[in-house]
Amino acid sequence: MLDWKDIDTVLLDMDGTVLDLHFDNYFWEEFVPARYGEMHGLSAAEASVMLRARYEKVKGTLDWYCLDFWSDSLALDIPRLKEDIRHKIAIRPHAVDFLEQLRASGRELMLVTNAHPQSLALKMQTTAIDRHFHQTVSSHSLLRAKENDGFWHALRERHPFDPARTLLIDDSLPVLRCAQREGIGHLLGVQQPDSQRPALAPSPEFRQISHFTDIMTGLEPR
Ligand SMILES: [Mg+2]
Repeated sequence: MLDWKDIDTVLLDMDGTVLDLHFDNYFWEEFVPARYGEMHGLSAAEASVMLRARYEKVKGTLDWYCLDFWSDSLALDIPRLKEDIRHKIAIRPHAVDFLEQLRASGRELMLVTNAHPQSLALKMQTTAIDRHFHQTVSSHSLLRAKENDGFWHALRERHPFDPARTLLIDDSLPVLRCAQREGIGHLLGVQQPDSQRPALAPSPEFRQISHFTDIMTGLEPR
């Protein structure tokens, strides 16, 4: 699936790639609608319909990932609510083994996420996976989301890497497409980002890994 000899730098998405997307799906689709419904005297189903419409309006923009935006527009303390269910944050199977092997192989390792810095901090405090990475980058620090044009160029200016010799693993198709347009040479999707939901349909554009073990063969020091 991959020839590791061609790869010096590995960029990894956080939610749905290194971490189970279940936390985020549960948070936005069940936990927040329930709290919002309580506040406004709506059933969970009614609140869900209302919130989905609001989510749709900002999907793919930095606001969608911005905790301040949602705290303000829903009048809920979103960071606090995330803390309340932090026990649901989980590392995907084999991720730690993969990160340890990557790090030992001498490759540059960067976590690149659309998560808001406060979300990133909560997940790092809970899982301690940041110790495996040379850099952890929130797209908020570059003022655009990973699926927005120019993101990958801006990332290279901040943290130089050779795009042709770089692998990105990300569960988001729009993100993979944007990285491809901006010259990232090796791109892989994730078959089942949320352990509680069925696998995604196979993509004709990008190969998907089911587990990191799919690509750990031949991962020798460069
Ligand atoms: Mg993701």
